[in-house]
Amino acid sequence: MIRWGIVGLGRAGLARRRALSARDDSVILHECSRRDGDAPSLRTLLDSNIEAVALCRESALHYDDVRAALRADKHVLVEYPLALTHGEASELAELAHAKERVLHVGHFGLLNPFHKRVAAAIDEQDVRGFEYVFSAGFGRAIRPLCDASLWGQSANSRLQALWSWFGPLELESSEVELKRDGYEIDVHLRDRRGRCVVLRESRRAGQTRGRSVRGVDRSENSIELPAWKKWPDGFVLDTECFVQQVKQSGSQSYIPLADVVDVVALSESISLRAEIRREVQKAKDE
Ligand code: NAD
Repeated sequence: MIRWGIVGLGRAGLARRRALSARDDSVILHECSRRDGDAPSLRTLLDSNIEAVALCRESALHYDDVRAALRADKHVLVEYPLALTHGEASELAELAHAKERVLHVGHFGLLNPFHKRVAAAIDEQDVRGFEYVFSAGFGRAIRPLCDASLWGQSANSRLQALWSWFGPLELESSEVELKRDGYEIDVHLRDRRGRCVVLRESRRAGQTRGRSVRGVDRSENSIELPAWKKWPDGFVLDTECFVQQVKQSGSQSYIPLADVVDVVALSESISLRAEIRREVQKAKDE
């Protein structure tokens, strides 16, 4: 029986709790929630005899939470992104290695059948150019990241998908347009075969969440690619993958930690190199 703690009981934390509660090899001993004044502190939770911890607080806390948990010799399952900078992410990967603990980042979009179908289509159809378009609201979780100019880090999950489809990607350009109710970012990347890979993200207040992918061949003709479908099994399958790693040392994750660290580096450089336009500022000047 694996003894667990959960830190942060928002949407992700509650989904982890459901996934763990359905397992007969796991028991949740402690939960740490800001909304519950009687809940144990993170320190108390980490000082207890739990073996594994699910870290589900907001992205800006992941680095501190993972570091504290590894130093306390816990196996760590953390929601993406692992950290906000390459320095932080590689430090955590080294710490996990030194402590001989599992460090797993829940990039479960990679387990979605859509992801696998796109991967197969890219392999089979000689895709030469690719575009990933993502839109979502501009809610509580994203606003602080945007205020801190962390647009690339907010796109971490889509970048991890692109890295998985195309392999290592070089950043060519990154442009952010700040809107009164959110922002839009255009990122141009190139893979090692010279293929052009574009990510367009739009985060606007009240906007419906959606995504699509488009591909072209070497003659710029459209290639048919699968449509994205909502998929409810991500937290469950991802939790299973983590548990197998804890139970059987040597069991591999579906995502190498080295790739996670590389994509955090890419996310960071997208933010640092972004050319910024301000819709509101422009309108005032005119
Ligand atoms: P959320 O705002 O719903 O939840 C965050 C939770 O952490 C809140 O309940 C908050 O009260 C809690 N928290 C923050 N500080 C705390 C503290 N000091 N002690 C205890 N609890 C604290 O956000 P979310 O959607 O659950 O996202 C959390 C993380 O999971 C983010 O990093 C996000 O990128 C990642 N993620 C979310 C999903 C999803 O489907 N929601 C999927 C994958 C990854």
